[in-house]
Amino acid sequence: MNHSDTSPAQEVARLSELLRTYQKAYYVDGRPLVDDAQYDRLFDRLVELEAEHPALKTSDSPTQRVGSDLTSDFPEVRHTIPVLSLDKAYSADAVLGWIAKSETKENRGLSFVVEEKIDGVSMVLYYEQGVLVRAVTRGNGFVGNEVTANIRTIASVPLRLTEPIDIAVRGEVYLPRADFEAINKELETPYANPRNLAAGTVRRIKSSEAAKVPLQIFVYEGFWADGAEPFEDHVQILSALKRYGFRVNPTLGLFCKDAREARERLERAGLDGVAGSFDEIPAYIVRRTEARKSLAYEIDGLVVKVNEISVREVFGYTEHHPRWAIAYKFEAPEAQTVVESIDVQIGRTGRVTPLARVKPVFVGGSTVSNITLHNQDYVDMLELAVGDIVSVSKRGDVIPAVERVVEKNELGNATWRMPHACPTCGSPLVQRGAHTFCPNYECPDQIAGRVYFFIGKGQMDIENFGPETASVLIAKGLLKDVPDIYAIDYRTVLGGEPGFGDRKISLIIDGVEKSKGKPFRNVLVSLGIPEFGKKAVDLLVADGIRSMDQLLEIADRDDMERLVAIKQIGEKTARLLIDGLNDPQMRIRIARLRESGLCFEEDEPKPTSLSQTFAGQVWCVTGSFEHFVPRSLAMEEVEKRGGRTVGSVTGKTTHLLAGDGAGSKLAQAEALGVDIVDEARFLQMLADDHPETQPGKPIEGKKPVAASDAEDAMLPGLFDEH
Ligand code: NAD
Repeated sequence: MNHSDTSPAQEVARLSELLRTYQKAYYVDGRPLVDDAQYDRLFDRLVELEAEHPALKTSDSPTQRVGSDLTSDFPEVRHTIPVLSLDKAYSADAVLGWIAKSETKENRGLSFVVEEKIDGVSMVLYYEQGVLVRAVTRGNGFVGNEVTANIRTIASVPLRLTEPIDIAVRGEVYLPRADFEAINKELETPYANPRNLAAGTVRRIKSSEAAKVPLQIFVYEGFWADGAEPFEDHVQILSALKRYGFRVNPTLGLFCKDAREARERLERAGLDGVAGSFDEIPAYIVRRTEARKSLAYEIDGLVVKVNEISVREVFGYTEHHPRWAIAYKFEAPEAQTVVESIDVQIGRTGRVTPLARVKPVFVGGSTVSNITLHNQDYVDMLELAVGDIVSVSKRGDVIPAVERVVEKNELGNATWRMPHACPTCGSPLVQRGAHTFCPNYECPDQIAGRVYFFIGKGQMDIENFGPETASVLIAKGLLKDVPDIYAIDYRTVLGGEPGFGDRKISLIIDGVEKSKGKPFRNVLVSLGIPEFGKKAVDLLVADGIRSMDQLLEIADRDDMERLVAIKQIGEKTARLLIDGLNDPQMRIRIARLRESGLCFEEDEPKPTSLSQTFAGQVWCVTGSFEHFVPRSLAMEEVEKRGGRTVGSVTGKTTHLLAGDGAGSKLAQAEALGVDIVDEARFLQMLADDHPETQPGKPIEGKKPVAASDAEDAMLPGLFDEH
């Protein structure tokens, strides 16, 4: 969709009108005009526009209301409980992020129930003294249609409960797949899916017609009339609903920080189901997603809910959804766009990756213009040509992907083919397995890839030496491989160069000089041996391989056994490491870096008396600091105390140490409810367990210097989203 030609106000009006039309077709007529992914994309776009232009948000916007299923065929009844929709997530990470945020909000251990999201018709059953008095559709969330006569025909809806209570119960009315197939094939105008047929049946004027369709119900929430739930948590409510005679879905998971606690709570409620710790949620999501196909009924996702009822009351509701639950939807939103060209990118190992340049399109929360196509096989599988209209999604909510070609181009363009020669250096390309490579070690793109990696964060993290400086030196032909960084005479080479004043050159020289003190582990990672990152290096060092000489001997002997003996290092990683170290170019690089004085041996571990106060915590560090220059010093402090450090803020991050100039990570952490710690508090936390370190005193005698993130921020990303 091109939304650049219209004003935001026009676009908001157009989207609102479209969404209302689609809602009526979907909820009331049971005959959707567009598929759900397209509906969700338009909905998300409206959410985004309203966030950018709050003045355009009206109280009757489709984003502020539950999509209404009201029809004039049935009397309208006011709900006595909130009957809302659900907030949505499309990846396990987003679900974990939401869990982490909920945990931080409440600041105490919570538990979460994961249920199947039944793809049917939302229904509220009202009981007085244990007798069904009304069945009401969701309507607009506040007022629904009374369809009691039709709902009474559903065998699994109890007309009288086992106890004479006043209760409102939410559930989903659905039609099993097999019944849908059997009925639908007899219909003159068949329905697209069981949900639409169920929606149509619930709204039949004659209940004798409704009775012919074997609808079912699963109930999932109970609200006691006086608002005083006699139970503390959701699993106990589900268990009570079962006792009263309702049909409750037995497939559910209960997750706590500690798996044992989850098991105990499930047992106490007397429910079957899976119990686990938060770490097990992603695997549970995968298993339920796979099991989906073999279910007798359709589900379109999973629902994750806070289990503690008292916390639900604290979290409350928006106009649209409860803040204590989130739906994980199986189908991520997709959008259509046109492929304007296909380029190739050459990575640091010479691997050539095709990249689709598409007309910018909004999908899954951001605008996408570049999409990796991986290799020729992937392009062939899609049969993708320039000019084709494609459907684009965000895999795992993050990485844009071309899902399929929707419409072939009319220009006669054939499926894209990999060029025979490298577009940057002209070398004939070679094929290795599924991937294509530029074999020229001195290809400028490869040099840039290697250098950007070497100087980047997590590797040598050279202060004041970013891609901007590197690209000037590469263009001059002076930087052909990483060891050149330590051989260049910067004053002579950069003196007089626009943008490189004396002070800047001094800072570059300082940064390069200082990087020689980086620990062996960083040097080893920065060599860029494929798939050989920090984790593998830590495993080697922990297993006693503490110097480059030891490693080179292992590579000389092709001693796979020594490496595979290390727990968690498999044959594939071991092979890559040995081959990487035996590459003649790599040997030259190692020799030259050694001559430059880089650290090729792990320091003896310092005896530490620090208590592991950060154990179990996951810290991300961003911005610049007075006492931690470079900021990796702060990360070391975290690690020394048993914490883990990461480069980005995700649902698993527990703390963000934010210094001056903290940008998007800070916003992300705020959104996820991560504990945000400033430098003063961090120093206090360190001091709390280490009496010698006083707040305000520089750590390890480091001189405060203003750190610059400016160049780091320019590291080229494959997916440049705007
Ligand atoms: P939703 O259906 O995605 O989720 C909320 C509903 O899930 C609840 O109201 C409840 O009825 C149901 N649910 C099922 N199992 C549940 C469980 N275990 N616990 C709690 N709730 C459970 O949200 P919605 O607001 O009804 O509909 C929005 C969705 O409907 C959109 O995301 C879109 O995919 C689809 N839609 C499509 C069109 C279209 O034209 N294709 C139009 C409107 C809506």
